[in-house]
Amino acid sequence: MKELRINGRRLQERIAALGCIGALAGGGVCRLAFSRADKQARDHVEALMRQLRLEVHIDRIGNIAGVRQGEQAGAVVLAGSHIDTVGSAGMLDGSYGVMAALEAVETLNEACVRTRRPVAVMAFVNEEGARFMPDMMGSLIFRGDLSVEDARSITGIDGTTIGENIDRTGFAGDEPPGALPVHRYVELHIEQGPILEKEGCTIGVVEGVQGILWLAYTLRGATAHAGTTPVELRRDAAYVAGAVVQFVRRLALEIEGQCATVGSITLQPNLVNVVAEEARITVDLRNPDSGRLRMAAERLHAFVLETARAERVEVDRQIRVNVPPVSFDPSVIETVAAAAEGLGFRSRRMISGAGHDAQIMASVCRTGMIFVPSRGGLSHSIREDTAPEDLESGANVLLHTVLSLAQSN
Ligand SMILES: [Zn+2]
Repeated sequence: MKELRINGRRLQERIAALGCIGALAGGGVCRLAFSRADKQARDHVEALMRQLRLEVHIDRIGNIAGVRQGEQAGAVVLAGSHIDTVGSAGMLDGSYGVMAALEAVETLNEACVRTRRPVAVMAFVNEEGARFMPDMMGSLIFRGDLSVEDARSITGIDGTTIGENIDRTGFAGDEPPGALPVHRYVELHIEQGPILEKEGCTIGVVEGVQGILWLAYTLRGATAHAGTTPVELRRDAAYVAGAVVQFVRRLALEIEGQCATVGSITLQPNLVNVVAEEARITVDLRNPDSGRLRMAAERLHAFVLETARAERVEVDRQIRVNVPPVSFDPSVIETVAAAAEGLGFRSRRMISGAGHDAQIMASVCRTGMIFVPSRGGLSHSIREDTAPEDLESGANVLLHTVLSLAQSN
């Protein structure tokens, strides 16, 4: 079975076909979670699963699994990712992992390979969290951290709830989430960063995912006339927000392994000649070390309180996402590394900078991830791209990882 290889051209065609759903006029894709385009893409994936003779399971939030029976019944070796996207995405983030898993299954079908354990493909719902927070929602619900009822009542950026969208589009099935027993989980994904390309590696053997903290600060001051109010009498929310942006950059430079980003600032009333009475700002903090991540959040909060107090601005902080760092399972990491080596690819061990369903699945079962290079390190961009031969290589590593996990105990 060592010679088994996926069909690179078919994989390309499948990725391109899925990329036509929700395609943007200027290039790129928009398939926000629970939208009509997302539903259309799900129907496409479901049809492919049936075409490959997989037994399809759709749960009450809309996670779709396609199971290929093995010699034994029981827990599956699961390969998957997500097919929802951010507003201006490429074709690869998430979709690549799902299409490559289907390609691996088709390769097994064509070669009439019977695995000991069943193999399954998963498309998790709402991984991106761009329309409805939190992100990685499908896997969180699969793991039992969030109930379907609570998720249905979540309101998105357009003011509608998940429940309304599910009911309108017929998005979900009726199986309870998490019912599928999983033996191992593997996720193939584009790196979404520049490291593999820079180092001339084809495969990233992912050892873990850094922790993520999303904070939303609301700073409340008072409006005032921009021309008549002396600085010492102002309660300027925009001023505090600007100081926070500067401090967040300092955290990224001073704390080892720290990413720190202000991605959104909204001012009220947001007018040229009015001192802002309110600023809402988001902070994205990431670190592979939980202690350092906590320290970054504490230093930030102390700074915000101190700066706001001096300006007589009130502070409200909400923690929107708090996902601790995750280490993948050593045996799955070794299986991925061995598959890459067996195929003759140059690989390196690495930590994922982005969040993935795999980090949620890591506490359901033994889990690992495979990365392929992203051209220019770009992702969450319509210019996201990966060389066709790298896409093929990654899918072959997935195939052989899944095969060896499905044959062993
Ligand atoms: Zn993704």
